Amino acid sequence: MTNVLVLVEYSEGELKNSTRELITAARVFGDVGAVVVGAPGTSEKLQPALAAAGAETVYAAEADFAAEYVVTPQVDALAGLAAALQVPVVVAAAAALQVPVVVAAGANGNEVAGRVGARVASGVLYDVIDIRADRTATGSIFGGDYIVESTAGGTSPVFTLRPGAVDPADQAAAGTVQAVELPAPGPTAVKITSFAPAEKADRPELTEAKIVVSGGRGVAGAEGFHDVVEPLADVLGAAVGASRAAVDADYYPGKFQVGQTGKTVSPNLYIALGISGAIQHKAGMQTSKTIVAVNKDEEAGIFEIADFGVVGDLFKVAPQATEELAKRK
Ligand SMILES: Cc1cc2nc3c(=O)[nH]c(=O)nc-3n(C[C@H](O)[C@H](O)[C@H](O)COP(=O)(O)OP(=O)(O)OC[C@H]3O[C@@H](n4cnc5c(N)ncnc54)[C@H](O)[C@@H]3O)c2cc1C
Repeated sequence: MTNVLVLVEYSEGELKNSTRELITAARVFGDVGAVVVGAPGTSEKLQPALAAAGAETVYAAEADFAAEYVVTPQVDALAGLAAALQVPVVVAAAAALQVPVVVAAGANGNEVAGRVGARVASGVLYDVIDIRADRTATGSIFGGDYIVESTAGGTSPVFTLRPGAVDPADQAAAGTVQAVELPAPGPTAVKITSFAPAEKADRPELTEAKIVVSGGRGVAGAEGFHDVVEPLADVLGAAVGASRAAVDADYYPGKFQVGQTGKTVSPNLYIALGISGAIQHKAGMQTSKTIVAVNKDEEAGIFEIADFGVVGDLFKVAPQATEELAKRK
């Protein structure tokens, strides 16, 4: 029996850490069904990792066209399964009727969630950081200034879970593979016409990283990122992030922007170098477990949310930290 569905995130045949977080968070509803959408053979490769993480059932929604379309195959698989898994009203208790859906928050996950919610006529809660069995969830909004508790209606409430918000706790399960037929996308579905893999970076992916070192306008240029931010990140095995001001000034590429209009991160450690702490920046990093800030202005708003703050020149503080950390490696 499947009590909750999660959409499996993977990259190059490997399970992404966010999937383990989804399975951990979804377990509050009962047995987890992990939905793999991809080319034939994808779920076979992922099955051992999914079983180890705690998927009772692995739904293999596979077709040659699955990777050629944006969003539609994932929506078809999740909405179809959510509808099929409903227990008929006449034989089941009301509580058994719900089959919630949990996907990773982000551009793709949020798009999928909205469409699934519309298809199954159920509510959607975005970017939550905790989910409970009574279908309520906790969200951190307005840069973390407010913590909201919400509940989603309908038979299949949909949740998008902020990556990094939940510590994965693997709990081995059967991982029984079950094939699911994917309908061919209709004429209005968006088809990918060409595909160029992103350049492989040596650093961890921003939303998956346990440590993020971010630079702001105070870094004062692309050289500052190269000479100060990246060396500190590398000695810590961290990802590099940037404020929008740094991105807008061409100090660092836009795909590394953290905040309301950038990526949302929730690492164990977030180091902010020369970032003032605007609400739009905080929106993307406030739920980090430990926040360290270096800023020469002791009035900077970032210090209000920092666990550890250094009032000082980042060009002196960060290289010293890098040097000391390198010695201890
Ligand atoms: C709709 C909207 C969406 C937005 N989305 C985002 C978003 O997604 N992400 C985001 O980041 N912003 C976003 N912004 C922009 C946001 O409002 C701020 O402008 C931006 O975050 C400021 O970036 P910053 O902290 O790097 O720059 P600043 O605010 O200019 O701060 C630079 C800081 O560096 C410090 N500093 C300078 N030199 C040094 C030094 N040598 N050593 C130590 N400290 C130093 C200064 O004291 C200052 O505090 C958005 C704005 C809007 C209106």
